[in-house]
Amino acid sequence: MKDFVFKKKYGQNFLSDKNLLRAICMDAGVDENSSVLEIGAGAGSLTEILSENAQRVVSYEIDKDLKEHLLGLKLANVDFVFDDFMNFKMSDVENQFDGEFKVVANLPYYITTPIIFKLLEEGTKVKSLTIMVQKEVAEKICSKVGDKDYGIPTVVTAIYGSAKITRIVGRQMFYPAPNVDSAILHIEIEKDKFKTIDKEKFSKFVRACFAMRRKTLLNNLSSFYDKSKLKEALGEELLARRAESFSLDEFVELFTKCKAL
Ligand code: SAH
Repeated sequence: MKDFVFKKKYGQNFLSDKNLLRAICMDAGVDENSSVLEIGAGAGSLTEILSENAQRVVSYEIDKDLKEHLLGLKLANVDFVFDDFMNFKMSDVENQFDGEFKVVANLPYYITTPIIFKLLEEGTKVKSLTIMVQKEVAEKICSKVGDKDYGIPTVVTAIYGSAKITRIVGRQMFYPAPNVDSAILHIEIEKDKFKTIDKEKFSKFVRACFAMRRKTLLNNLSSFYDKSKLKEALGEELLARRAESFSLDEFVELFTKCKAL
């Protein structure tokens, strides 16, 4: 790692505090039977702890300048992939695992949301996500109906599983320190909960409902559905409300009622 130049464009903010790294592993519930996917190995500090605690780790790292250092760690149960995680189809990522796996990572912040949604929307063997993200992103995803940051990421995540913040991590814990604080976000995937819902279509529906936040449901949905049919299916009262006022269960109900339109 001598002479390593940090690359801002890759969101390189490394961790080294062993207690924090162990805490991330613990929040993820990693044990000797776990398979783990890490995105962004960096200098391998989290990878090492994961390697000690899990059965197997697959770790992606885009920066080839880190290759020699990471391979030099000689972690027997870790397979590194030196490439852009976003370039892979989720099915190819999943083929590297026999069964289910947990995602544990200190994510590169410039692509936090695309990574989360790729894992949620395209993953079939993902058991849980335990990821370091910007505090604001974690708070948004965990917010409740009525909170000001309640929105698309909150509702779309909730259809896949339950999200919670396990701890807040100050910016000083990273090197170099980013200019935002962070949080560890844990999402436990609940495969059976909304089994009958087509989640991809549900996501699109939620995005349509929130298209213009200050507008009513009627305004937002009338660009996708016939107005009179909407009124018939949902009634004037629901249509006069804004998307931000609906809970997850209400969204599921709205979605189900609109499916036939
Ligand atoms: N896990 C390490 C590093 C976290 S920083 C630690 O906690 O110390 C995020 C890491 O993700 C960086 O090493 C960066 O190079 C890597 N990265 C950024 N974009 C990536 C991508 N698209 N695919 C894979 N890795 C990426």
